Amino acid sequence: MVRKEDEIQNYIEQVIERRSRGGSFDYDTCQEILKYAADMKSDAISGIGYYYFAEYYWYQGDNEKTMHCLSECTRCFRVVEMYDFLARSYNMMGAVSVNQGNLIVALNYYYSGLQYAEEHGLDYVNAMLETNIGYILVRMRCYREAASRYEHAKQLFEQSKDSYSHIYNLAVVMIYSGSCYLKLQQPEQAFALLDRLEKLRQEFSDRAFPDIEMLIFQAECIAERGNSDNLCQCIDGILERLRKMKDIAQVGDCLSNIAELLLKTGQYERLDEFFDIIDDRGLDKQPMLAMDLYSVRRNLLLHQNRTEEYLQHTKRYFSVYEQDRQNNRQLTARVMELRDKLKSMETEQEKMYDYNRHLKNMALYDSMTKLANRTFLNEYISEKFEEARRENKLLGVELMDIDCFKQYNDTYGHLAGDTCIEAVAGVLRELHCDNIFCSRYGGDEFMIVYSDMSLNEITETAGKIQSRVRELAIPHKASECGDVVTVSQGVFIRQPEEQNREWDFNAQADIALYHVKRDGRNSYRIETEFSEV
Ligand code: GH3
Ligand code: MG
Repeated sequence: MVRKEDEIQNYIEQVIERRSRGGSFDYDTCQEILKYAADMKSDAISGIGYYYFAEYYWYQGDNEKTMHCLSECTRCFRVVEMYDFLARSYNMMGAVSVNQGNLIVALNYYYSGLQYAEEHGLDYVNAMLETNIGYILVRMRCYREAASRYEHAKQLFEQSKDSYSHIYNLAVVMIYSGSCYLKLQQPEQAFALLDRLEKLRQEFSDRAFPDIEMLIFQAECIAERGNSDNLCQCIDGILERLRKMKDIAQVGDCLSNIAELLLKTGQYERLDEFFDIIDDRGLDKQPMLAMDLYSVRRNLLLHQNRTEEYLQHTKRYFSVYEQDRQNNRQLTARVMELRDKLKSMETEQEKMYDYNRHLKNMALYDSMTKLANRTFLNEYISEKFEEARRENKLLGVELMDIDCFKQYNDTYGHLAGDTCIEAVAGVLRELHCDNIFCSRYGGDEFMIVYSDMSLNEITETAGKIQSRVRELAIPHKASECGDVVTVSQGVFIRQPEEQNREWDFNAQADIALYHVKRDGRNSYRIETEFSEV
């Protein structure tokens, strides 16, 4: 039978694989994933379902619904500790906030994502986040900081060549950083990047490439070199492409680059053409872009003495600006509210984890000695027994018992008896490790399981226990075998055979202990052959 966890894991891998082959999912596929998540009661699948739903709404341009799905999936991913998806979700939240024009909130999300990406060594998402942070810094006109973010992103993309969109993303970050270098007046760096980009495009000609962004960057480089013929040709190519594009907003910040370039090089006719294309595409729906392009438009209209239009656009600019300010205020308040809610959810979750840990401890450990209890022992020993049988390894089982403990209780009282048991258990707690499993068997008896150890090592450990208990020097004047508390140990060591069961080993350890007790206690006995029970 397939284990539930494996089934979930397989399903998730299949879905991711399907997504990476065929682009984003449609509505029905996302619904199907969420339905399966409900059937399986799986937070992991739920998270994946909401994540792809977020992607679906993102491409639909529905910021509200995208954000809603993202807050659902981050909750799931946090529970199941899927950090790669968690960082990607924060990345998308940042992108939605950029769309909504709230750069500070976006930065906040990107940084949350970055924290997960860095903590868990997720280079690829890390690079995506660094690129997006760089993009915001550019919009804030912090070119130097942006360039250094882009450098880091480039390095990270270069060392994680695992994704299909890797070349596309690498090219985007190279273009962005090239543009930054031009703004920083370091053209040589930009030219070098342009060369590398051209080589990259040739080498991976079968992969998707950010063509229009590349063309705009090329134009910027040509302008920097002062070759006006080539520039006109290049710009005509860009305008041609923009005219054919369905969603020019995707070109994003590059649009203001091209507008600024046209203004700077005095190509007013082409600039007019550019604004015609942009206005044709309902720029009203892109307030950020409208605002970014306003200063170029203002200059153009003033230059051409188109006063009437200038006034119109200025009026529109200020109303968009005011609207944007109000949106931002509302958005910031909502994000803060969400963050608070998230925080209290996290605290609740922490409490649940603590409580679960507590319950687990109660179920598996003996409260007095803090050693494993019988339940835990049974589970552990059958697992180790199977392993030893399968891999032909030695397994050692030891039963240890405090000598004349009844007399101890009678002499010093039951409370002192408890303290004595705890002290003896302390010796075992110190020895407890991957190979030495110590448990309280009941009363004054303990069971120790030795795995992956040689006969010599086990014998040595048994001897160590003898002497360490004696060294505790707990007075025991009523003992028949000395004046301090001592123990007796029976150990059975062998490679389990097909017909053996773990309780055979327990019984043999018990026989060995019986012999030690009979022969005067205060010692240990190692047996490697079966004897009659
Ligand atoms: P032997 O050397 O043959 O083992 O003699 P013994 O006196 O230790 O005999 P036995 O193992 O039968 O006695 C164990 C005693 O331990 C009996 C019981 O009252 C006492 N005991 C069991 N659990 C506890 C406990 O949690 N605390 C205390 N103080 N005493 C316990
Ligand atoms: Mg005893």
